Amino acid sequence: MDIIPVANVVTTEEDARAVYEVVKSGWISKGKKVDAFEADFARVVGARHAIAVSNGTAALHVILAALGIGPGDEVVLPSLTFISTANAVLYLGATPVLVECAPDTYNVTPEILEAAVTPRTKALVPVDMNGMPVDYNAVLALGERLGIPVVSDSAESLGASYKGRRIGGVSPIGFFSFFPNKTVTTGEGGMITCSDDAFAERCRVLLNQGQEGRYNHVALGFNYRMTDIAAALGIVQLSRLDSIVAEKNNIVAAYREFLADAPGVSLPVEPAYVTQHSWYMFAVQVDEAIRDAVVAHLKDKGVDTRLSFPPIHNQPYYRERFGSKAEDLPVTWRTWRRLINLPIWPGLTREQIAYVAATLKEAVAACS
Ligand SMILES: *Cc1c(COP(=O)(O)O)cnc(C)c1O
Repeated sequence: MDIIPVANVVTTEEDARAVYEVVKSGWISKGKKVDAFEADFARVVGARHAIAVSNGTAALHVILAALGIGPGDEVVLPSLTFISTANAVLYLGATPVLVECAPDTYNVTPEILEAAVTPRTKALVPVDMNGMPVDYNAVLALGERLGIPVVSDSAESLGASYKGRRIGGVSPIGFFSFFPNKTVTTGEGGMITCSDDAFAERCRVLLNQGQEGRYNHVALGFNYRMTDIAAALGIVQLSRLDSIVAEKNNIVAAYREFLADAPGVSLPVEPAYVTQHSWYMFAVQVDEAIRDAVVAHLKDKGVDTRLSFPPIHNQPYYRERFGSKAEDLPVTWRTWRRLINLPIWPGLTREQIAYVAATLKEAVAACS
């Protein structure tokens, strides 16, 4: 039986040639290719500055360090996200304050964020879950009203847009990831976007060993540079961004067609402010009592799925360190227990989508 994978990395002849040329040139660490990738990226997303780093986690670490966040400070972020959003806060000795998500969008709302703000709050980190932008106008207005910087975790939303504006050009500070399952990949890689010149310079200094001028180290920095090998791959991948996002949106349209009125299956909602979804993942909801059985049924029938990232507050390290438990964030916990990520990747055929949809309906009926 052919297995339909949940994700599939697409690399081309052109990608391979770009990497080959860099390796042959003999200049493989940070150089002209990184400069070119940053310039391309800034232009494509409409950001004033784009700053390449070694991965998305490093991007957030640098941003929070550049904001001066440290011990005693709190950073508010959703629990339903990848572990690194919270880990970057802990790297600096600050405290991640994990909050709920909305049960329909899986994103944080301004109300959820504001309820967790204290005099110690030094940043708000909304996450564009599964590639869907948060309500930026409302979240950025909250940050401005409270005088707290907003840092967008847009690791999953490259190619998405909010009210017609590309993510990367909407929030004054944000970051992206180029891990292989993200919209475009460099193997490992990340990008900081920001609008303030001085902040951009601080990030550049911190990611490069705190260096301001050669061997003049003015801050405790990191080695988070991107290589020219990765950047060469990124340049070519980024040139295909529009077609990748268009193809993923076509796949979602087919899923919506085949799963319209499927009993017991809720499809993702797209608020009107989301003018382009990048569909990092296509997550459907089923009753939490049958989710695991549905997943097993799909696997038996050759359909690979993934669960969403398990909420951070229930991860063993966080449970032990902070004494948190699953029920502390009941909406997040219940939502996570209902989610299944279905296969979505450029190249998935209409026949495969029809098969996944039919098998999902069959699984829900069999398990109910
Ligand atoms: C992938 C991801 C990250 C981290 O990016 P890496 O490049 O893997 O370090 C951070 N936040 C979210 C929401 C992600 O999906």
